[in-house]
Amino acid sequence: MNNILSTPIEYLKGVGPKRGEILRKEAGIFTFGDLLNYFPFRYIDKSAYQKVRDIPHSENAVQLKGQIRGYKEVKFGKGKRLEVKFEDETGYIDLIWFKGGKWITPKLEVGGWVKVYGKAKQYGAKYNIAHPEIEFLKHENEDSLGMQAVYHSGEKLTQLGFSSKGIERIIKQLLPQIKNQIPDFLPDWLIAELNLISREEAMVQIHDPKSYDHAKKAQLRLKFEELFLLQLELLFRKEITKKKIKGIKLDKVGEHFNTFYSEHLPFELTNAQKRVIKEVRADIGSGIHMNRLLQGDVGSGKTLAALMCMLIAIDNGYQACIMAPTEILASQHYTTISKFLKKMDLKVALLTGSTKKAARKELHEQLLSGEINILCGTHALLEDIVQYKDLGLAIIDEQHRFGVAQRSRLWKKNSLPPHILVMTATPIPRTLALTFYGDLDISVIDELPPGRKSVQTTHRLESARLNVFQFVEDEIKKGRQIYIVYPLIQESETLDYQNLMDGFESISRRFPLPKYKVSIVHGKMKPADKDYEMQQFVEGKTHIMVATTVIEVGVNVPNASVMIIESSEKFGLSQLHQLRGRVGRGADQSYCILMTGYKLSEDAKKRLATMVDTNDGFKISEVDLKLRGPGDIMGTQQSGILDLKLADLARDAQLVSLARSKAQELLERDAEMNEKVHQALAHRLRVILKSRPNWSRIS
Ligand code: ADP
Ligand code: MG
Repeated sequence: MNNILSTPIEYLKGVGPKRGEILRKEAGIFTFGDLLNYFPFRYIDKSAYQKVRDIPHSENAVQLKGQIRGYKEVKFGKGKRLEVKFEDETGYIDLIWFKGGKWITPKLEVGGWVKVYGKAKQYGAKYNIAHPEIEFLKHENEDSLGMQAVYHSGEKLTQLGFSSKGIERIIKQLLPQIKNQIPDFLPDWLIAELNLISREEAMVQIHDPKSYDHAKKAQLRLKFEELFLLQLELLFRKEITKKKIKGIKLDKVGEHFNTFYSEHLPFELTNAQKRVIKEVRADIGSGIHMNRLLQGDVGSGKTLAALMCMLIAIDNGYQACIMAPTEILASQHYTTISKFLKKMDLKVALLTGSTKKAARKELHEQLLSGEINILCGTHALLEDIVQYKDLGLAIIDEQHRFGVAQRSRLWKKNSLPPHILVMTATPIPRTLALTFYGDLDISVIDELPPGRKSVQTTHRLESARLNVFQFVEDEIKKGRQIYIVYPLIQESETLDYQNLMDGFESISRRFPLPKYKVSIVHGKMKPADKDYEMQQFVEGKTHIMVATTVIEVGVNVPNASVMIIESSEKFGLSQLHQLRGRVGRGADQSYCILMTGYKLSEDAKKRLATMVDTNDGFKISEVDLKLRGPGDIMGTQQSGILDLKLADLARDAQLVSLARSKAQELLERDAEMNEKVHQALAHRLRVILKSRPNWSRIS
């Protein structure tokens, strides 16, 4: 049916073998279909005429219609130039050609109608337009108005006649031939419901729109279809995985969960925590394997929610583990969880790289016998020797810090794979979550525990430093602790390192021993020294912690109330937000001070303003997405998904959600896509599934 679209591009009139070669090489256009899918990236509005009278007030190119009143060749340097006198009902203007006049001259006819497009320039009191685009009309009303599509081109393409205009020309050559060749694969009910135009019409209108509105409608249709197919694919894959992998059925909610909930829970759960626990419960109780992502801002109480899920696993006779990317975080989990479970008869253990050999051996045995109920730890949990009696639930904190291979090793820790809950404190916008993690189930904690004071954030210039230090002194007097963070960026590492050391020195001078104690932590220190300094701060033995971003992840010192970020314009938004999340963990009002120099880029200003404006990690991630784009946020390893041709994850957020919900609706109605109305779509989906076999990045 689609054979015209699979015709090799060189067979298109005006292309041929040599130029076909360049289209293949430089633009990836192999077939008629590829050309059709070579979409313009913007339009020039030629849907209206301007008048000669308006030229002095128009900054952009103008489009005029009128008649030729005369023409002459004028000597110009060594050559000649062509001057054409053009008139519309409001006045005259000269059209000038320095080159190419000999192609134009034969077509010129005094009194003939023309359509002209170009940018006017002023010379003295007069205006002229050099090298305008000109179209000769048979009579006054032969013209058509519209939008002109602009295409990506390049030097090599242009040399062979494929400037944007050249591409436009061959596309216009193709458009009449696609009539009745572009079947619609979206089902009629969906097209009707969303009031979409047909695929064929969209293809014509995106290249040759009658008006701006037509172009918009065409884009909408094609963007939606692109996102819809992607969501359908993701949901379909999720279902396939679920069918393939049997899950351990953890459907009992018993003694441990209930006792903890009614007797030991030190505070009321937030609604968001309750919702997450409910979602996990429904999953792990269903006999289907859970692979769920839990997103929640720093301090939103993910650990507690995770712990309650672990208790369900234990109630069903299984063990649970929680893995974190650093020793500090792992031991923090261990301490927190042990404290929560103090009054319960459960065994919690910690396994990290520094666990001593003898302790390790005992621990391995207790895991195998089932004596240990919950194991906290680092990558050490992944070693083959770590075997459980029955691991039912594995939790991964700060999932982005683990590689896919590492995560997948957790799957193998049980004959049936344990349920997996991956947690992240770096919120990503819903659009990105739906796209990049669209084959996972996603839970969100979008609410902080009550009574948490939001961190007060201010932006301070270098000139305010004395005041800032005075403020630090006052806070220390109140018994609080302070973080001061310096950027350490790879390219300028020596310089940054110097700044850090200089900063440390001047802070130590301003806050001298023995009254004040200042710690320093950075990446060049030995791990043992780093841990020692951290520990000093955690225990409240030092007042100020000067550090690089090594403290970014997860450290919990509730007594720290001030976070000062030096050269904060050098940090990205999500990093700033993570750093700020280190304070505001206790009962006291906390502060974040963003220090900068005077010169700031527009983006840096926007980042700082956003930080001052809001504490909401999801809002911040939305701004971040707009500033940086999805590629930078998700990293290059994920960029395969970004082969979106038209849709833009930053700008088309609503359309992503719509596509998701419609894809869901469709699969609820016709899970196997057997209905006749879904036949074309099912076919399309099968092709896509085959072409991208390995999709999932999280497991
Ligand atoms: P996250 O890991 O999401 O950053 P944590 O789990 O470390 O957050 O929780 C942050 C703090 O909030 C901890 O001290 C925790 O005990 C406390 N917390 C958790 N849930 C609640 C709640 N529902 N009410 C009050 N405090 C809570
Ligand atoms: Mg945490």
